[in-house]
Amino acid sequence: MSTPWQVLGLNEGADQHAIKAAYRKLARQYHPDLHPDDPTAIDRFLELGEAYQALTSPAERAEEAAEVESPSLRVEVPFAIAYDGGQVQVELPVDATCPSCGGLGCKRCENGKVVKKVPFTVSIPPGLVAGMLLRAHERNGRNGRRELPVIAEILPSPLFKRVDGQPQDLVLELPVTISEAVLGATVRVPTPTEIVHLKIPAGTPDGKVFRIQGGGMPLLARPGEHGNLIIRIRLAIPAEVNPGQRRALEELARYEGDPRAGLLRGL
Ligand SMILES: [Zn+2]
Repeated sequence: MSTPWQVLGLNEGADQHAIKAAYRKLARQYHPDLHPDDPTAIDRFLELGEAYQALTSPAERAEEAAEVESPSLRVEVPFAIAYDGGQVQVELPVDATCPSCGGLGCKRCENGKVVKKVPFTVSIPPGLVAGMLLRAHERNGRNGRRELPVIAEILPSPLFKRVDGQPQDLVLELPVTISEAVLGATVRVPTPTEIVHLKIPAGTPDGKVFRIQGGGMPLLARPGEHGNLIIRIRLAIPAEVNPGQRRALEELARYEGDPRAGLLRGL
């Protein structure tokens, strides 16, 4: 078996710049679209992608996959499957013999071929990084199961955002009330796997960030390890108040100092 270095034609220990350059050159050279009649082209192309993945960080790979003109087929992966890993079922377009003319060529087809949607399964590793190159396996292939390279896209989670350049970290915007922020509180916070309790200290300003170590995405290459969950405090200002809240706020206003005193003193 070749090492990733050998696959990319590099000396062991070459730097990231050299790895990237070698991958780009070979990926263009062996792109399956350029070798439609060579069934080994896809294997060769995927082997390059795997070698590249083995030698680079997830962030660099995601960037690279977006840059290299590679498989045009994209697969959307729900956030939960990107997190836990699993399988995604998709239909991908493949060339098939035209049923009307049996491949001889007719008005309904192009040179005897039509594009057919065929069911494929894509296995997703836990901690998937957007832009990763994956293999799709044909589900019910009669003449051997075809494989196609696909690029993974991750459907956004309604709760957790990814961070550019830190794909293993997740960001959660956490609304807190004025009284919680001022007086302090312990609040329940969802992580991708459980609900945890977070202590909000008295006097927490809007926008303050808390970090839960290991609360983020699983790390692709390091099973059992996770990125961080970054919790950003958002002060929840009610758009409307009921009479009780209004009385309480008016009472509060009587005791508030002027936060603009320092600004106005210089005028
Ligand atoms: Zn036809």
